[in-house]
Amino acid sequence: MSNETNNISKLLVKVHELDNVAIAVQDIKAGTEAYSGITANRDIPQAHKMALVDIPKGGAVIRYGVTLGYAMEAIARGGWINEFMLELPAPPSVEDMEYAKNIVTDLPEPPLTTFEGYRNPDGGYAGTRNILGINTTVQCVTGVLNVAVKKMREELLPKYPNVDDIVPINHAYGCGVAINAPEAKVPIRSLRKVGLGCEKLTVEMLIDESDNTPENVIILQELKGFNAMVDALMEMAEKKLKILNQRKRETLPLSDLCIGMQCGGSDAFSGVTANPSAGYASDMLVKGGATVMFSEVTEVRDGVHYIAERCVSQGVRDKLAAEMRWYDHYLEEGEVDRSANPTPGNKKGGLCNIVEKAMGSIAKSGNSPIVEVLSPAERPSQKGLIYAATPASDIVCGPCQLASGITLQVFMTGRGTPYGLAAAPVIKVCSRNEMKEMWADLIDVNAGPAAAGEATIQEIGTELFHKIISVASGKDQSFAEKYKLNNDLCIFNPAPIT
Ligand code: CA
Repeated sequence: MSNETNNISKLLVKVHELDNVAIAVQDIKAGTEAYSGITANRDIPQAHKMALVDIPKGGAVIRYGVTLGYAMEAIARGGWINEFMLELPAPPSVEDMEYAKNIVTDLPEPPLTTFEGYRNPDGGYAGTRNILGINTTVQCVTGVLNVAVKKMREELLPKYPNVDDIVPINHAYGCGVAINAPEAKVPIRSLRKVGLGCEKLTVEMLIDESDNTPENVIILQELKGFNAMVDALMEMAEKKLKILNQRKRETLPLSDLCIGMQCGGSDAFSGVTANPSAGYASDMLVKGGATVMFSEVTEVRDGVHYIAERCVSQGVRDKLAAEMRWYDHYLEEGEVDRSANPTPGNKKGGLCNIVEKAMGSIAKSGNSPIVEVLSPAERPSQKGLIYAATPASDIVCGPCQLASGITLQVFMTGRGTPYGLAAAPVIKVCSRNEMKEMWADLIDVNAGPAAAGEATIQEIGTELFHKIISVASGKDQSFAEKYKLNNDLCIFNPAPIT
């Protein structure tokens, strides 16, 4: 896929030479000549598609060079194409997908090859923030922990200036769950330290035996009353804060950095501005040795054969196919299919169906080879571009990527979301100038100028690269981090609740 947007006129963007539709850069009034000889035959909202040719009933509507769907009725040249006019094509088969056919090694050189991070004693990826995380085995302890964390932040944190924050890892899993169900491995993997005592998700399931000591674990049912609980939590936290306060940032190679990419509230510009810019930044990071994860199964499913071509080996391709099959089955069990995505907001933003959303979503992965595929919340064994299979839901994808090891997330949006994570900074990239104007103090990087040809994908991608490095290095904060816009951790649980 090209990194270039293709403005065919001031009013229209066409992505691929085969496309028979183009995207309206701004609202186009009926009667306006949007392209030489093509006049809009009705009002076309910004980000929506206009037919560049007459499309007969049953004819393919093509964007990104792929068939988005088939026209349910004839569509005249200059007409508006929306979500009610297309029949969804069958999803591409995941059997025998070609692999290692499109391995791009000519990636853009990163302008920087180091960042300032916190080296971790286990030799894994470096930290971008110095945070005391307090994990829980069960939702029941959330209230007590939240009271204790508020007290810790007020009374303890000011004494330890090298520690950025204290974060409770609260979640809705732990008890009343089918802990022995095959798919329970997903939430357990996601949470892998404060327990209650009677829950099914036991401390032993979350931490190594050597760490299961009174220095690391508090069982609330063993404590006499609320004040004793808060006191115990405060005491343990202070011991940990003393250790964390010794940590210092050091200059580290990009190979110690692991970041995640996801999008949410997408529109039809996401795939031509924000996501390709993120893809360009991703390629620079990968070229510099970093690890970048992209995710969201339903948003790659319709372009999975393109992703397979970028897998470096048969083994990686096979894991990709297995993750797609698993999700197809998961949706079938719920008696839905991939058409349950996109959302009403996506559609208002011009995305008529999941094929169009997927083709735009994949653009955030850039052109790098895919070196590994992960099941939800698995940890990587390779460095480079990784496909981490997760649900597309923003608040579920985020915790899955955190569990897989990211320490920063880049989030592309067309229609806007205030989403954020407590445990890692989230950088927002918007797809349209109007979004940046509306949310000037929530959007970190504006990819909108690429829609009107006022900036290139390379320029915005390079700006994003610099933003990622400065936020990762603690020299800068994203807006979501500054305002502490932290969503709840929604742990992906495909297993039954009892
Ligand atoms: Ca998402």
